[in-house]
Amino acid sequence: MDHGMTGAGGATAEFILSLNAGSSSLKFSLYEAGDEPREIAVGQVESLGPNARFKARIGLEQVEDDLGSANHHVALRAILEKCETVLQGRPPACIGHRIAHGGVDYEAPQLLTPEVMEKLALLEPLAPLHQPHNLAAVRASIEAFPDALQIGCFDTAFHRNHPWVNDTFGLPLKYYDRGVRRYGFHGLSYDYITGTLARIDPELASGRVVIAHLGNGASMCGVLNGRSIASTMGFSALDGLPMGTRCGQLDPGVVLYLMDQEGLSASELTKLLYNESGLKGLSGATNDMRALEASQQLEAEMAIEYYTFRARRELGALAASLHGIDGVVFCGGIGENSAAIRARICNGMDWMGITLDARANTDNEMSIGIGRTKVLVIPTDEERIIARAASRALNERAMAKD
Ligand code: AMP
Repeated sequence: MDHGMTGAGGATAEFILSLNAGSSSLKFSLYEAGDEPREIAVGQVESLGPNARFKARIGLEQVEDDLGSANHHVALRAILEKCETVLQGRPPACIGHRIAHGGVDYEAPQLLTPEVMEKLALLEPLAPLHQPHNLAAVRASIEAFPDALQIGCFDTAFHRNHPWVNDTFGLPLKYYDRGVRRYGFHGLSYDYITGTLARIDPELASGRVVIAHLGNGASMCGVLNGRSIASTMGFSALDGLPMGTRCGQLDPGVVLYLMDQEGLSASELTKLLYNESGLKGLSGATNDMRALEASQQLEAEMAIEYYTFRARRELGALAASLHGIDGVVFCGGIGENSAAIRARICNGMDWMGITLDARANTDNEMSIGIGRTKVLVIPTDEERIIARAASRALNERAMAKD
């Protein structure tokens, strides 16, 4: 099948693969490299383990398959095999990886050399739900594509230039110097949203904007003239908003109490705070917002009430960090799709100029505010940010060869 994969000037374009590896899934997008990469396939291997499943759109085709037992290596091989209809014997020239934590060192995408990988592995305890899986996918990818460029794009990078006061905790300063700081996450999403805002509303993009990335993981970011000033997420991916299964902001005294009085070990606490809290813990049922919204259980309503209350509170706090607010942007699975959650977060915020147009909100329109503060819904695209970085890396390599 001829998919007409030719780049600018008619030369055969190189392919880029964006990978986003989690504990139970490997999401991917395949692009043709270029100033604005062109997406050719998108999908994932889900339920990694004994009953993994492949689901994707490849070119114009929907492809689904049971893979049986699959880890990251097997999943990557399956992605390659299934995408062969478009790759046609030309493997991706660059693999871009989403990596949760870049620590204090990395504020831009990096070539994943053995030295860089060693440093990133040291950060695994800071993002135990993500970093080990991200790095497992990098190793699988280096094995599968030894000749390709491997680029890491970090969720912390967008926040690296916070003012010190938004980066520190009230601990003795020596801990800050040792890296105990507020790193912030979801940076690829914020990068995409600020870039899109600059294109569709340059005036707002140069102002004070709070972006709410509300998915299974959730955070909010205060952005001034396109740069992150403050984020609800801190040292680990636990802080700030309650999430699908993570607790969000918590008095550290609670952790001490659970250790001392309830006898929880470090690993039991990790499981509690990362996997059993948030919407799932409060509802006692599920982390799936759609299911909670449909539920008649009181606990489901309580979970939603806490979720929206905390989001509203953080919205106010971030507006204070920005010395005011010109716009709010919702993104992520919940932010992009749930009119009811957006309405509940914005409820009573008219004093901040945030008033929703009920019809535009229900219809999931892009602009849903009627007050002096703009309110927008913009679907995020973290994979595209990775693909753009990969395209730049390929360009730099080509220029270095010339
Ligand atoms: P993400 O991690 O960005 O894929 O977001 C996942 C979350 O978005 C889950 O809690 C889903 O239940 C939620 N979600 C997706 N679609 C909807 C919807 N139409 N209404 C409410 N929540 C949704």
